[in-house]
Amino acid sequence: MRPTPALAAGGRTVASFLSATEWMLPSPATQVHTISVLPSRLEFAFSNLTTSLRNGGGNGSETGNPKFQIVRDDLLHPLANGNKARKLDALLPVLRHCGATDIVTCGGCQSAHAAAVAVHCAEWGIRPHILLRGEQLDVPTGYNLISLMFGNVTYASRSLYAQRDEMLYEHAIKVAGCSGTVMWADEIIGKDLGLDEDTTDGNGSRKVMIVKEGAGSVQALLGVMRLLEYLSGLTLFGKDEKVHIVVDSGTGTTAVGLALGAVCLGLQWRVTGVMLADTLERYKQRERSLVSDFEKVFPQIYHGMVEDATHDNLVQWVERFSPRRFGKVLEGEIAMCRQVAQQTGILLDPMYTLAAWEQAVDLCCGDSAAKVLMIHTGGTLGLFGLAQRYSPQFTTGEQS
Ligand SMILES: *Cc1c(COP(=O)(O)O)cnc(C)c1O
Repeated sequence: MRPTPALAAGGRTVASFLSATEWMLPSPATQVHTISVLPSRLEFAFSNLTTSLRNGGGNGSETGNPKFQIVRDDLLHPLANGNKARKLDALLPVLRHCGATDIVTCGGCQSAHAAAVAVHCAEWGIRPHILLRGEQLDVPTGYNLISLMFGNVTYASRSLYAQRDEMLYEHAIKVAGCSGTVMWADEIIGKDLGLDEDTTDGNGSRKVMIVKEGAGSVQALLGVMRLLEYLSGLTLFGKDEKVHIVVDSGTGTTAVGLALGAVCLGLQWRVTGVMLADTLERYKQRERSLVSDFEKVFPQIYHGMVEDATHDNLVQWVERFSPRRFGKVLEGEIAMCRQVAQQTGILLDPMYTLAAWEQAVDLCCGDSAAKVLMIHTGGTLGLFGLAQRYSPQFTTGEQS
């Protein structure tokens, strides 16, 4: 898929569309740090040039070493992780605009999505109702704890959870009560939303919106495109500079939003998504379906921008260096996260962000001329859940 020649004009169209959109985050701004990769005898060593130089560190020996940039979206919010806030950035305002009083969603027992919905709804005065898969934990930690603090959590058995849509709908009906209404967030998106102020009606009846697990919708793409537009405006990147973005992927929505943003803004940027939760075929399928939904909902933007609409090959999907069943942590990975934390002040988790880090290190040590830019998608609180499951790996303080 290539940008049309009429890019300059088109780029403005997208930019003006984004600037007219109502957002949850007051600003798209985020910090970008530069990481220097120091080759050492056995393994790599790292240093965070942005923070160490700021503090008078860095002795100049770093010049000439491979470098990459990292977008610190993990610092976007202390409790709701980076890319989840991005995915809700455009969605939550639409739902509130439609008079939502309550939101129902679901997720796995350590779901960062569910926790982010709970936190941001609470901030916005909407009541969050969270269905978590599995049994109540004896000691709630991490995202589970955040969902419990900010949302109304109900645990759902695996068999109930298998019928996800029915489960969500039945729960929403219960929340709505006899005078309330229930809607799927996906269905109101793209409709002309003439604001009906009186939907938050005086009679106190509930208006319940259902957000599917992962919030992988067209609206989620917009928030990610807003991030990309912000990054493209930084002086760090030259006007026609080639940039290679790396991001760890669950559903792949974040990666698709970044790639679509690059095409729509006419940038020479490409996106590598590290596949963590599914097969290549499924990632490609989801990419096609997200892009075609985007085309349906925003035809005016899409057709101005994209020349050959194959709905395919926007993102370069790659395997993790050490593929495994999703959620599994391999020997040495926690030690690696600890090393990165101690050398750079950046916290990675072995499930998601370490995979993108490894990819970024590999790319920037290669011979590509493009600047490498990793998106830190957050995941910090996921470590608390992992520490419960893999406690022996976390209990040795000394590193070899
Ligand atoms: C949810 C999550 C992802 C997955 O994002 P997708 O848009 O579904 O690909 C990646 N990394 C972290 C840390 C996450 O919490």
